Amino acid sequence: MAIVQVAVAAPLPEVFDYLPPPPDTAYDIGQRVLVPFGRGQRMGIIVGCRRESAIAPDRLKPIARCLDQEPLLSAKDLELIRWAADYYRCPPGEAIFSALPTRLRRPVPSSQAQPKGWRLTAAGDACPLAQLARAPRQAATLTALKAQPAGIDDTSLRDQLGDCSAALKALATKGLIERCQVSAPLDRIGAQNLGIPPIGSPATSPKAWPDISPEAVPTTSPDASPDGLATSSLATNACAASPDSPTAGEPMLGPALNSEQQVAVEAVSEASGFNCFLLDGVTGSGKTEVYIRLIQRALERGQQVLVLVPEIGLTPQLAERFAQRIRAERVVLHSGLGERERETAWRRAAHGQARLVLGTRSAIFTPLPDLGLLIVDEEHDVSLKQQDGFRYSARDLAVRRAQISQCPILLGSATPSLETLRNAERGRYQHLRLRHRAGGAQAPRFLLADVRSQPLVTGLSHALLTRMTEVIEAGNQVLLFLNRRGFSPVLTCHDCGWISVCQHCDARMTLHRGHSQLVCHHCGDQRPLPVQCPYCESPDLRPLGQGTERVEDSLRQRFPGIPLARIDRDNTRRKGELERLLTAARDGAYPILLGTQMLAKGHHLPGVTLVGILDLDHGLYGSDFRATERMAQLLIQVAGRAGRAERPGTVLVQTRHPDHPLLIRLLRQGYAAFAAAALSERAEAGLPPFSFQALLRADSRTEQLALDFLRGARTLALALEPGPVEIWGPAPASMERRAGRFRAQLLLQCSQRGPLHALIDRLLPALRAQASNRKLRWSIDIDPQESL
Ligand code: ADP
Ligand code: ZN
Ligand code: ZN
Repeated sequence: MAIVQVAVAAPLPEVFDYLPPPPDTAYDIGQRVLVPFGRGQRMGIIVGCRRESAIAPDRLKPIARCLDQEPLLSAKDLELIRWAADYYRCPPGEAIFSALPTRLRRPVPSSQAQPKGWRLTAAGDACPLAQLARAPRQAATLTALKAQPAGIDDTSLRDQLGDCSAALKALATKGLIERCQVSAPLDRIGAQNLGIPPIGSPATSPKAWPDISPEAVPTTSPDASPDGLATSSLATNACAASPDSPTAGEPMLGPALNSEQQVAVEAVSEASGFNCFLLDGVTGSGKTEVYIRLIQRALERGQQVLVLVPEIGLTPQLAERFAQRIRAERVVLHSGLGERERETAWRRAAHGQARLVLGTRSAIFTPLPDLGLLIVDEEHDVSLKQQDGFRYSARDLAVRRAQISQCPILLGSATPSLETLRNAERGRYQHLRLRHRAGGAQAPRFLLADVRSQPLVTGLSHALLTRMTEVIEAGNQVLLFLNRRGFSPVLTCHDCGWISVCQHCDARMTLHRGHSQLVCHHCGDQRPLPVQCPYCESPDLRPLGQGTERVEDSLRQRFPGIPLARIDRDNTRRKGELERLLTAARDGAYPILLGTQMLAKGHHLPGVTLVGILDLDHGLYGSDFRATERMAQLLIQVAGRAGRAERPGTVLVQTRHPDHPLLIRLLRQGYAAFAAAALSERAEAGLPPFSFQALLRADSRTEQLALDFLRGARTLALALEPGPVEIWGPAPASMERRAGRFRAQLLLQCSQRGPLHALIDRLLPALRAQASNRKLRWSIDIDPQESL
């Protein structure tokens, strides 16, 4: 007897046994199914088949229905996701479904999104047609709907009745009909084969795909006709050669590689099987150029390539560079895409049509049958770690995936994480270095401005203002970095000392003058700007400190008529706005650029010769042990925007701690020396990467509940003989109250991974078995990147 194992889309740690679906329904590992579950039905995915079940045969139920005719995920894809689910302690069903494009997380047969339609209300059902004798259109519409109690979708209604929108509106107003989701009738699904419609059918792609078969455009075929591809564009996401890229036959050459780049390219191309490389190259050293060469080679070998970047904002620029040099079909995958677009791109990759996939974090799960190379750019970036739900590190999973696929992986960064550097040090990763900027650009020069006793003009020192004037007069660009959006981080009452605290968080509300609001950046709460102190009613309310909005104001007064672009989350909300600003910035349209970390990452701004860092101190004494590492990475990344072309750059850092030892080491000796010092501090303190951590977090409306749960967890852990595992806490989070919930954490730490994970394996079932309390939320974060 065959038993089918199904991971059900629910937060349950186990997979369930079922009998196969009715005969003559094909089923396979990786297909989505509907299964009887409890009193209803649930969606699941087939993850395995076996001969026997621990459950008595008469208690097993058959799979109700298959939603896909072909597997969505291969055995290898499932192996990666299930490994991740195990490692990060995420229920398998939850992990698998969160790895699928959103549209496929719904129990709808492949590419059959439920259309919207109309159905009768109870009143409509009871309404005699005679009542509508004087409105024949309405009567006809009602008749049609009476014949289909489940409802009729809009398209079918139009097919049957022509344009009946006025009649529908009238009937709805009378309360006789209502809007609904209509599931496509089964016979129609059957006709379409229930499975994946051919690419190019209107069901999958709103816009027509270029009419090419995968064979017609192999990776870098010399005789692929660019004309045949002209209809594809970035708008449809998948794109082959853009019309202005070199025509077939012309080699898509870039600059001649320098010797360090060449060494890197050779090392990775010669690797056979699984091999992990760290490409440690200063900003502007030509890492991207190395990626491009390696991608070209892999594509020539007939392989697919996956490139991960930490942020959606970095995709357009990289996509454009790939477009100029890589002819094979490419797709981009990130959360900014529409659901359909995303599903289509995902399927193009899964079917092997797309050869190069560029994406953010979740793209790590894209099925790629011919995967031959993985690249993770800016591998140090925290955005590669998912911070809620399925808490995985896309970088670490990329390494695991390369291992499963037996292919090389390249981790690139100008500021590698200490974890990765440690792995290189231990010889697990091969360390490739690019020490010099490519194409003759010079490394930037650092200046420390001690601002302790200086008068500051909205956070700008005299030294910085003077240099800004020089740079602008010389026709170059200035980039100012301040990682704080809004006008000022707090509003105070000058008379009684009231400050604008959030009611729901242990935090202050930021003043946003553009919208005349106080906004909490932690819970999102917004309040209109008070005109007088809520406590003493004094009208003398004053903003304290500065965010980007205020600095912008001040700069516009100080440099009248000089175009300035502010780039932060508040004014790049509109789709395409960030890209537009960055392109204009790159073209030199703005002598002054002011931004948060959005502006710090990866962007190429050749005209910038001065970078001003307004306030670094936040990172020097943060509560998280990674604070200095993050500060150093951010500083070097921002600094990397300076002097990327022929013009040399200067970085002016304003600080109140000019003699902070790690800061001095970083600026005088560079990131590598900083990292070495930081690593030996970590070794001494027994912190990661010299130990492994897991964080048990809990939150509740009352402080007691969360803390009691964690105290209980601690007691349980101690009773389970933790061996070498250290148990720290419980302790309240550094921001204890957030969005009205009290948060606390218990830290488990061990110098070896094995005992830590073994303890967690015993602890979690015990915690789950405890009487559940719906007022309490808890989660486990393996290899946490941030404490609360
Ligand atoms: P990174 O990714 O390390 O920041 P890029 O690959 O963006 O660096 O390279 C920085 C600049 O140097 C780009 O304009 C790129 O075209 C150029 N470049 C890269 N490699 C070379 C090379 N070997 N010779 C000349 N210019 C190069
Ligand atoms: Zn007051
Ligand atoms: Zn808040």
